[in-house]
Amino acid sequence: MNDIKLAVLGSEGVGKSALIVRFLTRRFIGEYASSSECIYRKRLSIDGRQLNLELYDPCSQPCEGKSSLNEQMHWADGFVVVYDISDRSSFVAAKAIVHLIRELHLGVTKRDMDSVVFLVGNKQDLCHVREVSREEGQRLAAEGKCQFYELSAAEHYQEVALMFSKVARNAGLSGKAK
Ligand code: GDP
Ligand code: MG
Repeated sequence: MNDIKLAVLGSEGVGKSALIVRFLTRRFIGEYASSSECIYRKRLSIDGRQLNLELYDPCSQPCEGKSSLNEQMHWADGFVVVYDISDRSSFVAAKAIVHLIRELHLGVTKRDMDSVVFLVGNKQDLCHVREVSREEGQRLAAEGKCQFYELSAAEHYQEVALMFSKVARNAGLSGKAK
């Protein structure tokens, strides 16, 4: 059976835990423990294949050091880089993460369509206080050869599930996963 490891990265408060919990339980709870890092596991059937999906949810304490980010990145087969559309600083942080992934030559696939790096603008329900336009998100995604999603962990279960399934599928296809 294939194991697929996904790292969900982004600054504190962007909704990483909310997205993961939404995907795993279908629920949006509102508040999420953030004191320790955590790996969630889920069995998934994609294209008739059984996969063991591992989702890495970093803690909110200073996991910022490049070395630990570096480690997380080498562990992962795929990446979900999250920012909050209502918080520009989180977009700046996401940009740095996308660039770091590319500097380290990680997540390289033959076709951009099969990218294992997904850029996610979360909290789309807060578009009345938006600080990052959809176009900026799309531009960064194109630059970093990422697939791009704007969605809301709070309001969109289907989109969240589709996004995680796609990145897992691509990470499985990319061949690194055994
Ligand atoms: P993390 O630090 O990246 O894991 O962020 P959390 O998942 O803990 O979420 C931080 C805060 O943002 C919490 O209060 C969540 O309820 C809230 N949040 C997460 N996703 C959304 C969303 O899609 N819309 C809104 N309005 N709030 C969200
Ligand atoms: Mg969290």
